[in-house]
Amino acid sequence: METRDWNEECAVVGVYNVQNAAVSAYYSLFSMQHRGQEATGIASSNGEKLNCIKNHGLVTSVFCDETLSKLKGFSAIGHNRYSTAGEDSMADAQPVFARYDLGEIAIVHNGNLTNAKQIRNELIAEGSIFQSHMDTENLIHLIARSKKEALIDRIKEAVLRVEGAFCFVILSRKKMFVIRDRHGFRPLSLGEIKNPDGSIGYIVASETCAFDLVGAKYVRDVKPGEMLVFSKEGMQSHSIMPANPYPCVFEYVYFARPDSHVFGRLVYNIRKAMGRELAKENPIDADLVIPVPDSGVAAALGYSQESGIPFELGIIRNHYVGRTFIEPTQQIRELKVKLKLNPIRELIENKRIIVIDDSVVRGTTSKQIVKILRDCGAKEIHMKISSPPTISPCYYGVDTPSVGELISARMSDEEVCKFIGADSLSFLSLEGLKRSIGVEDYKFCQACFDGNYIVEIKE
Ligand code: SF4
Repeated sequence: METRDWNEECAVVGVYNVQNAAVSAYYSLFSMQHRGQEATGIASSNGEKLNCIKNHGLVTSVFCDETLSKLKGFSAIGHNRYSTAGEDSMADAQPVFARYDLGEIAIVHNGNLTNAKQIRNELIAEGSIFQSHMDTENLIHLIARSKKEALIDRIKEAVLRVEGAFCFVILSRKKMFVIRDRHGFRPLSLGEIKNPDGSIGYIVASETCAFDLVGAKYVRDVKPGEMLVFSKEGMQSHSIMPANPYPCVFEYVYFARPDSHVFGRLVYNIRKAMGRELAKENPIDADLVIPVPDSGVAAALGYSQESGIPFELGIIRNHYVGRTFIEPTQQIRELKVKLKLNPIRELIENKRIIVIDDSVVRGTTSKQIVKILRDCGAKEIHMKISSPPTISPCYYGVDTPSVGELISARMSDEEVCKFIGADSLSFLSLEGLKRSIGVEDYKFCQACFDGNYIVEIKE
């Protein structure tokens, strides 16, 4: 899935008790750039004052030595945005910063609040004025309007009013608060950084690949329903709502980096296992297994190892394709595939090819891939997908097409195969997906595959 049909869903980071915390936040955001490329931002605190810089663009284009030098302090939070709720405007970039009766506060959020409209309407009826389209702004208002005295109590009260998917990282001048929703839809991990003076600093991030870059040690995941409070006294954990974990299985299929540990497991191993299961479920005689890079690589390796059919990098991805600044019409999406993916004719010509991709969303990308392989003289093209057909949109923090645009919601597998022009098409079954993850007590959100939503959407 290489034309951002199923867009990533933001990254958050929080760093506490680390010298120049903003620099660690910067590197963490850099390592999680795949989760959002629209906008990025960092807020930091030196104990007296919060500073916040955010802008459209990639982490490396928004931040430089000069901007980072303005973000002094021992704590920092950061965000990479891919628009989920809200619109693509500067007002919708994060962190969300506000001044209120207790001082200054900044919030970053990964997820999507399912009762956001309801709460916003209530707040507007009571006189609140909103600056952005983001559901995240609701939380600022709920905190600012609370009658409780202590910030921690205000945050608890506010968080208990919102529903859906959220990982919040909240920065005040002296403290940092981290909250994960009761279902733990989106990943959030806790790490420690050993400071030069021997003291311990803390980091929370959407993916553990962020820890590797800043030399942090993974400690554990933030638990569903848990609030962590970081202060000069160290870290405190509070269970603020009953946990009912349903983490997002699509993190394993596509979103997360393969070198991240997500929900306690290495993503790379799970993707390879998906490829192996796919080979067991869908054996076929062929000359080569090739991945759609990059997200299909690990599954293709697994398929090749299980089936004994040689693996080749038959399609090369251009990583340097930027935005086209044109509306994403069907025509432009097709051009984007050609800009990004180029097959190696010498490997493809006269071969029976198994192509492994992680998912089929609109079908446009797969159709283009089949076409470029046919143009290279492939004898047979067998498209194999390392996840089940995606039939329902996500309401828990992922920017997905509407149900009408999801090809498998409208067509049978045979019809999809005909549409994309492949000789055969097969998907991993839901049972195969479960076996790949390899846990006895499998309990994941898989609503985009089966349409069973754990949390209802309140309009
Ligand atoms: S609906 Fe799909 S993408 Fe959304 S949280 Fe559930 S599994 Fe993940």
